[in-house]
Amino acid sequence: MDKGWSEKNKEIQKLISKEATFGEAIKKLIELRKELFDQITQIVKTFPEEAFSRMPFAGAEGYHSKTLAYSIWHIFRIEDIVAHEMIAGDQQILFARGFCDTIHSPIITTGNELSGDEIAAFSKALDIQHLYLYAQEVQESTDRILEKLQYSDMKRRFGDETNTRLQETGCISEDESAYWLISYWCGKDVMGLIRMPFSRHWIMHIEAMRRIKNKLCRTARKGVDPIAYCGFSCNHCFLGEWCGSCRTAYNACSFATVSPDGKCPNASCCQEKGLDGCYECDVLESCEKGFYSPTNDGANAAKAQALYIRKHGKKAFLQAHDRLHERYDFSRTQELLGHDYAEGLCILEEN
Ligand code: SF4
Ligand code: SF4
Repeated sequence: MDKGWSEKNKEIQKLISKEATFGEAIKKLIELRKELFDQITQIVKTFPEEAFSRMPFAGAEGYHSKTLAYSIWHIFRIEDIVAHEMIAGDQQILFARGFCDTIHSPIITTGNELSGDEIAAFSKALDIQHLYLYAQEVQESTDRILEKLQYSDMKRRFGDETNTRLQETGCISEDESAYWLISYWCGKDVMGLIRMPFSRHWIMHIEAMRRIKNKLCRTARKGVDPIAYCGFSCNHCFLGEWCGSCRTAYNACSFATVSPDGKCPNASCCQEKGLDGCYECDVLESCEKGFYSPTNDGANAAKAQALYIRKHGKKAFLQAHDRLHERYDFSRTQELLGHDYAEGLCILEEN
């Protein structure tokens, strides 16, 4: 489990069990859920449609054997059912907000009953943008429920009535791989539900999504030019696990993720001008677009690297970086190159 998330979750579990620290636990839980949800946002914002139904670990044991779309559906179907049918006793977001129609899901269940090819086919049928909106509404609605809970609610248990209600929703498949969920949830009190579907369950599936995403990125980058449009080396980039290169549809570079259209301004500009990269551009030195914007800490380093490529070519550039990275890690390298672009160019040439 991700160490940072695991530590935060452990602290929340400790705080939530005492009345004096209950309020603090809920606050921290909502913060952790936001941090985890940001991972989903980043994936949905930057990854192409086809990524959501791909199964790079098909047949493996574990959550990473599913798809990105299935993972999102599954996390939020479970949360929607538990939060609304059990804790709040009102209508699920899926039905109340009409997401059944807009997501185009062929099922309303949690998806536990699906396996292998069924998961891939199910994932292909989903409208990812509406699935994301659904996930967002479930998260927000659960957060509101969490904020209203009192410590005295934690020991509330669920009897036969809830069990019957869950069965009648048709939201849990009668297949044995799913049906156990009803007695599992009904065997817990409110605190037990918070500890699993609202926190740990998220961590486990979002970690699996990260593994899927990383593998898709590595596959996307195979055989692709490792020089980014702005002049960075994808081979040496600290985002190598996250980003499938700005030359593929799996671009998750920082400027792509913060741009409203999900595209890096330098990549778009080069494509519009028909350039292989900013190193071929006449106005490189004075450019202030994307990575080169004066407010970006890495602007000078990116420019120094593009200038080096213009002067010495890509092969020499990658070799210069190999040598630099024998001594320094990514962030130190960028720091050294980033004081001034002319000085950065000299450092690359002299090392
Ligand atoms: S962030 Fe830029 S340099 Fe890093 S891997 Fe992505 S495209 Fe390449
Ligand atoms: S104008 Fe700037 S972003 Fe566009 S190609 Fe030239 S250097 Fe790159």
